[in-house]
Amino acid sequence: MFENPNEFTWNISSNIEFISNISHELRTPLNNILGAQKLLTLNVRKDSYTLKSQNDFIKYLGSIRNNSYRLQRIINNFIDITDIQLGLSKLNLVNDNIISIIKKIVKNVAFVALGKGIDLFFCTNVDQKIIAFDKEKTERILLNLLSNAIKYSERGKTIEVVAIAKEESILILVKDQGIGIPKQKLESIFEPFMQVDKSFIRSQEGSGIGLAIVKSFVELQKGHISVTSKEEEGSIFEIELPADICSESITKIFDDEEANIMQKIKIEFSDISEVSDDDDVYTFQLAR
Ligand code: ADP
Repeated sequence: MFENPNEFTWNISSNIEFISNISHELRTPLNNILGAQKLLTLNVRKDSYTLKSQNDFIKYLGSIRNNSYRLQRIINNFIDITDIQLGLSKLNLVNDNIISIIKKIVKNVAFVALGKGIDLFFCTNVDQKIIAFDKEKTERILLNLLSNAIKYSERGKTIEVVAIAKEESILILVKDQGIGIPKQKLESIFEPFMQVDKSFIRSQEGSGIGLAIVKSFVELQKGHISVTSKEEEGSIFEIELPADICSESITKIFDDEEANIMQKIKIEFSDISEVSDDDDVYTFQLAR
C-alpha cells in the first residue's frame, strides 16, 4: 500500500511504451557523446594544436558535457518518479520567502530564454511571503514548467511568471504563448509518459514524465496544479500552495545558492539549450 496520494496505476514491467521511450531518450545523448569522443580522438591523433583544432576540442568537450547533463536529467527524473511511486519521496519543509526563490529562478532562466529569443518576465503583488515549502522540490517544479514553456514556444514569444500572495495561499502562474495543448489531451497531461506528439519525428526531446513529477511535488506540499491551454495561443499552468508555517523550521545553510541554481538549470535545460560553461573551458585551457 502506498501512502502517497499520487499513486499511479502504472506498471513498469508491462509498459512496452515506457521501455521504448526510455531507450530512445537515452540513446540520443549517448550517441552524441560517443560521436564527440570519436572526433576528439581523431583530432588528438592528428597531433596538430592549431587554433582551429583547439576550438574543435572545446566544441566536442561542450557536446560531451551537455549530453552528460541530458543523461543526468533523464536519470534524475526516473529516480524521482520511482521514488514517488514507492512512496519514498520525502518533504523537507523550511519557512522561507517563496517570492525571492521564484524571482531568483526566473532571473537565472531569463538568460537561457533570451538565448532562444524568448522574453521571460516575473511579476508579483508582494516582495515577501514567508511560507513553509520544500525549496528543492519547488525549484524543480518551476524549472520544469519553465523548460517546457521555452521548449514549446517560438522565438519572439513571451513567457510570464506571476506570483500572487493571498492570505491563505500563494498562486504561481507560468504563462506562455507557445503551441498550446490540444483540448482532448489536457486531462491526461499530468499522467506519466504522456506526450502530445509521440511521433518519431517529433521536434522536441522528452520522456513525458516531467509534469507527472511536478504534479506529485505540488501535491506532496498539499498544493494543487491545473492547466488551461489553447492550441496555437499558449498555456497557463497554475499552482496553488498553502501559506502554512511549519512549527520546527529547519534552517539549512545553502552555500553558494546562485551556483547551485545554475547547475540545476544546466541539467534541467540540457535538452533545449547548450548552456555554456566557462569554468570547463578555463580548465581545459589550463590543462593543455
Ligand atoms: P516532456 O519531457 O515530454 O516535455 P512533460 O511531462 O514535461 O514531458 O510534458 C508532457 C507533454 O506535455 C509534452 O510532451 C508536451 O506535449 C506537453 N506540454 C507540456 N508543457 C507544455 C507547454 N508549456 N506547451 C505545450 N505543450 C506542453
